[in-house]
Amino acid sequence: MSKPTAEGLKRYPETAGYNVDLASPIPCVCNPACGLRCAGECGCEACSVQFTKFCEASGRLSALVPTLEAEEEALNAYRHVVDAEPPAIIRRGRFDGR
Ligand SMILES: [Zn+2]
Ligand SMILES: [Zn+2]
Repeated sequence: MSKPTAEGLKRYPETAGYNVDLASPIPCVCNPACGLRCAGECGCEACSVQFTKFCEASGRLSALVPTLEAEEEALNAYRHVVDAEPPAIIRRGRFDGR
């Protein structure tokens, strides 16, 4: 199992570089070239999951499957929520829903 990169640590500071949304923590292996809100394009599974969670939280998950356009729309929305820290905003949303 790989370890989080320094960039991963910055993205998931509360969890030492891991995305803990799933049963087993996933190390973030992003690099400085990644966008602020990486959706896993670099091969980072942690951020890929993060993006999937965003889609779930915003009701986009079902739309993601069929078309490329839907995926692009979701990516766009994901990248343009720039006011808050990437991981925190999604966690907050989840907690509010409980
Ligand atoms: Zn990452
Ligand atoms: Zn990345």
